[in-house]
Amino acid sequence: MISYKRILLKVSGEVLMGDQPFGIDLDTVARIADEVIACVKLGAQVALVIGGGNIFRGLAGAAKGMDRVSADHMGIMATIMNALAMQGVLKSKGIDARVLSAIAMPTVCETYSPAQGIHHLQSGRVVICAAGTGLPFFTTDTGAALRAAELQCDALFKGTSVDGVYAEDPKKHPNSKRFDRITFSEILAKDLRIMDPAAIALARDNGIPVIVFSIREPGAVLQVLKGAGRFTIVTKD
Ligand code: UDP
Repeated sequence: MISYKRILLKVSGEVLMGDQPFGIDLDTVARIADEVIACVKLGAQVALVIGGGNIFRGLAGAAKGMDRVSADHMGIMATIMNALAMQGVLKSKGIDARVLSAIAMPTVCETYSPAQGIHHLQSGRVVICAAGTGLPFFTTDTGAALRAAELQCDALFKGTSVDGVYAEDPKKHPNSKRFDRITFSEILAKDLRIMDPAAIALARDNGIPVIVFSIREPGAVLQVLKGAGRFTIVTKD
């Protein structure tokens, strides 16, 4: 039994580096692809948003004096490379997947539209939403919340490197309080940085629960889909 029929899984670019210091580790992409496939085989419809931080972050370019808009466009390109890697690996494993990019690149992939995304999901294809929101000054977390709302997803799965939401960064404060459940308002009031505030507000306003879990834990996505395993669920009340 699955707890959610249609999910949006956000994977940060950093996860795709595996143990490398930079770039795309295809073995790690394959591991995440297997997690997605396990969910599809259980009857879930899966849309993915993948970050680009393993290749380029706009803020890093801006810090070195680049104009922010060009730097963010580079970050957006990075998300498209990651999306193509995931599509390639999923297809090599016999799973139909489509990259839908927020920036038109008709010779490379389809252009994103909500109707096309929903059509592919209903046809059993994995939809990989690339290029974030397509706009500079945004993040792929906001892109993930936006796509979750547009594609009428039942939940936003936020795969991170920790097993839920903590009052303070658990890597710096090992005794920090961990929440099994928390509300969007508490996240915003306590300024807990699990996703940027724009993403939190979008999920809250559209009533989409956000489930935070460690994607480094093998099998975690499937466990969370079944409502099991270790995670924090963020809800309206
Ligand atoms: N980006 C952007 N608009 C978006 C999504 C991403 O400009 O809607 C750029 C931004 O420069 C960002 C980079 O793409 O730094 C990579 O995205 P993000 O930092 O969200 O990736 P993650 O941290 O999830 O790997």
